[in-house]
Amino acid sequence: MTDIDTDTATVSRLIRAQRAVEGDGFVVRRPFPTTMLSHLDPFLLFDHMGPMEFAAGEGVGTPWHPHRGFETVTYLLEGEVEHRDSLGNHGFLNAGDTQWMTAGSGVLHKEGPSQAAQAAGGRMHGLQLWVNLPAAEKMSAPAYQDLRAEANARRDQDGSSVRVIAGRLFGLAGPGSTRTPISYAHVSLAAGAEVTTELPAGHVVLAYPLTGAFRIGNTQVDEGILAVVEGTELTVRGVAPSSEVIVLTGQPIGEPVARYGPFVMNTEGELRQAFSDFERGRFGTPDD
Ligand code: FE
Repeated sequence: MTDIDTDTATVSRLIRAQRAVEGDGFVVRRPFPTTMLSHLDPFLLFDHMGPMEFAAGEGVGTPWHPHRGFETVTYLLEGEVEHRDSLGNHGFLNAGDTQWMTAGSGVLHKEGPSQAAQAAGGRMHGLQLWVNLPAAEKMSAPAYQDLRAEANARRDQDGSSVRVIAGRLFGLAGPGSTRTPISYAHVSLAAGAEVTTELPAGHVVLAYPLTGAFRIGNTQVDEGILAVVEGTELTVRGVAPSSEVIVLTGQPIGEPVARYGPFVMNTEGELRQAFSDFERGRFGTPDD
């Protein structure tokens, strides 16, 4: 046993989320993109929605909008989300479900509280992540993965619960298939409970408390703060009373990022092409 474990991961950077208003008017906490930080390759956006309560008839989502050149990954903790897209897909997400949408060459979609949830009022809590695609896949055919809560790899132990949605973390392999090496885990921790994982070499590693707080080494990370982590082995410890923590890792793509709103390409010319294609209706048409 040594006093100093040089392999233990530490927090190298703390990023405070900013408030942003999305879609038809719901507030998110957004560590990036902001005027300070465009992206953390390969991740392009990190939006924490809720937890929020809405009255009957007052739930809001996002109206029809396009995407091209990346993936949107929506993980729901509470509520019921309904989505539709220009390829004719229509579905629902419930607590613990993930929608992994590869926009590729382009899709139009809308998403928000389901009609039933809108009518009844309720709660909403979730996370939307944008994952970049490498140049070779930016114009690939759009695709979906509907990853149900029960499909996640899961281990419950000593006051902790680990669910892995994609990639390999905490010794578990998730069901999601990724275009570049990504891992995505949700950890629930009672106060003082801890979990440890090896970290994939060369990845950007992020840890974020959806609720509560956690500690990595001597650093406490509170709600509204995204931690960037460096090291080879990560231990996350829960802080009272309990916490829900997202751990993400991704191998940087290392290509130029040209972005504007819902389009993320490699060059300004490709962005102009995206706008032009959108204006000409080449992303399809709303199906309702
Ligand atoms: Fe979207």
